[in-house]
Amino acid sequence: MKKRMVSAITPSGTMTLGNYLGAVKHFIDFQDEYEMFIFVANLHAITIPQEKEKLRKNMKEIATLYFACGLDPHKSTIFVQSDVMAHAQLGWILNTQSTIGELSRMSQFKDKSKKAETTGKGYIPAGLFTYPTLMAADILLYDANFVPVGVDQKQHVELTRDLAERINNKYSDVFTIPEPLITENKIKIMDLQDPTKKMSKSSDNPKAIILMLDTPEMIKSKIKAALTDSEGIIKYDIVNKPGVSNLLTIYSICKNITIKEAVKNFENKNYGDLKNETAEAIIEIVSPIQEKFKKLYNSSDVEDWLNNGANKANLIANKKLNKVQNALGLNFNRK
Ligand code: ATP
Ligand code: MG
Repeated sequence: MKKRMVSAITPSGTMTLGNYLGAVKHFIDFQDEYEMFIFVANLHAITIPQEKEKLRKNMKEIATLYFACGLDPHKSTIFVQSDVMAHAQLGWILNTQSTIGELSRMSQFKDKSKKAETTGKGYIPAGLFTYPTLMAADILLYDANFVPVGVDQKQHVELTRDLAERINNKYSDVFTIPEPLITENKIKIMDLQDPTKKMSKSSDNPKAIILMLDTPEMIKSKIKAALTDSEGIIKYDIVNKPGVSNLLTIYSICKNITIKEAVKNFENKNYGDLKNETAEAIIEIVSPIQEKFKKLYNSSDVEDWLNNGANKANLIANKKLNKVQNALGLNFNRK
């Protein structure tokens, strides 16, 4: 039997180049070898306030981009999280099995609550705090063996393992213990304006992030404005030259070469060349995806594929939820 993987993107914005290079690109590569469950994490998105229409647009764009990037609905199970109610229900059960102490240690919560505190006038939704238990439910419902995530999500997968082990030991062996599969080379694309922090689709500075649907002009102007340094030397040094290093990372992944080869390509060249060639390399990657996106966006295919995906996911997820409810003694009539 094929090993299973579960992963998702939160529609708290639209897909960034970081999401693509760090996540979606790997999902596509994994499709033949693994049984993949990939969803649009809309229940996670509402852990920070969302405008209704914007949320719907982001959900549709991410779902359509999944397929435009090459996820195959006949190979993988692709769906919208809220179409499978067991996620919220198991999420609740896991909330009751986790502690305030362990959830407080999650660095995503620390970052996002700090941001919510400053931009949202002290408004920190409780869902932001319990985000990791919902994520644990997402993974455990499908008996995932691996969770392909960027380095930023590793801590959440570790918490998922702890919760699964805790319940297996306390009640009965209901969960498969998942392992994080940190995407190849630990790829982390950084913010263009502050290259010491990761590029995030929920960033409030549009100049800091490249979106998969950005036009070539937008890509050129954002890369041109990317923060570098005044040294004028093109070398890979994340600590002292985070901006230049980030451009080298992006260039090398888009060109499918090593960082070393990328550095060699820029020997005797200047930052202007680095920026121009990096922008061109990104455009080469996103253009064919955008073509496919345009064809799919207004067709009924995406909706059909998502419905089929949700039907398949529901069958598996409901069975697991029932097993967990039996294990905890929740079902009056054990089924
Ligand atoms: P948000 O700001 O809402 O958290 P995000 O850009 O961090 O958005 P997520 O939906 O949290 O995106 O993550 C989706 C996937 O993309 C995860 O597997 C995550 O590890 C990966 N990912 C996110 N940002 C990057 C990045 N800058 N570089 C590499 N991978 C990334
Ligand atoms: Mg994130």
